[in-house]
Amino acid sequence: MANRQLYIDKEAVVTLGLLQDGLLYPATSVMGEAESKEVNKTKKYNGITYPFALILAPKGKRNEQILTTLKPNEILDFVCEGEICGNIASKEVFKIDKDERVEAIYGTNNLDYPGVKDTYRRLGNYAISGEININNRETKKYKEIVSSHIKKTKASRVSSMMVAGKPFHRVHERLIRTALVKCDLMILFILKPYGDDDVLSYDTRYKTVKYFCDNYLPKDRVLLIPLDNTYIFGGFNTLILNAIVAKNFGCNELVIGQNYAGLGAIYCDGSFTSVVDNIQDIGISIDIMSEFVYCDKCSTLVSTNACPHGRHHHINYHSSSILKLLKMGIIPPALFMRKEISSIILSDLFPQRLEELNKIHQHLSSRSELLDDFNSKDFYESLMDLYQTSSLT
Ligand SMILES: [Zn+2]
Repeated sequence: MANRQLYIDKEAVVTLGLLQDGLLYPATSVMGEAESKEVNKTKKYNGITYPFALILAPKGKRNEQILTTLKPNEILDFVCEGEICGNIASKEVFKIDKDERVEAIYGTNNLDYPGVKDTYRRLGNYAISGEININNRETKKYKEIVSSHIKKTKASRVSSMMVAGKPFHRVHERLIRTALVKCDLMILFILKPYGDDDVLSYDTRYKTVKYFCDNYLPKDRVLLIPLDNTYIFGGFNTLILNAIVAKNFGCNELVIGQNYAGLGAIYCDGSFTSVVDNIQDIGISIDIMSEFVYCDKCSTLVSTNACPHGRHHHINYHSSSILKLLKMGIIPPALFMRKEISSIILSDLFPQRLEELNKIHQHLSSRSELLDDFNSKDFYESLMDLYQTSSLT
């Protein structure tokens, strides 16, 4: 007889895949009731800092009916988007406290906090533990790519960074280059979102980071690896989880900028350094980079603690403002962002402009007909060159 089925969403499938592939080690499967309580209370798992229990509590009437009638050692198939994608050999089913669960992940139950509402929406009343098996795991492939590259290049100092690229600008470039000086190999994890991707699409972000890596960094020393940014990374424990994942990918170091997403929340809690000290047991060193700005006296990117000119000479790299410029269709100044990168983003944001731009191009460049192979990316790039031409003065 066929196994009974548990319905889970893509985000759960991916998180279970991370677990099965050892990227959330020391946890390698979803936890049972006693274990969960222990982890949530002590913030440790097998003696190592761990932010919260990893459990599987899928929502839905049908799921609840199956979980409450489970036979001992019953095997359930996982079904996601209509397809069987793995299974679980059940050990235990237990009731969960949703408020406690949400608070363990996000440090709050406030529905306005990003991710909270969504997590409540996805949580069922019962959790199941047991051995999991997920088919076709992408993480497995990426873990193998990283480990074979480390072996091939004999890299002993492997550093890593989490890159969102919203949008990818000059300070990101500087952070990567600065870190690259001190390591043999740099793994750039590019965060792949679930649910709404309304800020800037993953594909566009990936393209921009890849463009920079391919053209401006030494090939063998940088790897770009997609990392599924599931709900577990959403809360105030982002730094701990990123450190755990990077460590399990084989990295010795995690580099973060000062305006790293997980930092603000941790600051409120006390001093940032103490958190970094506290997670030393994970076995990866955390390198916090200083803040970079553009100084109009130095005429270059400077670290704020290495320039004497004061705030009024500095221009900040405020990512969401730079992104807003792009969304308004304005090319950010080249000191913010490489023209090729703004061009990639603009042509992705405004695909409907292609024909208009081709016409403009035709008039400005005195060509007589519209070009078949015209693309808006090249147009924005040459426009940027024109902005920077000042031969009239
Ligand atoms: Zn300066």
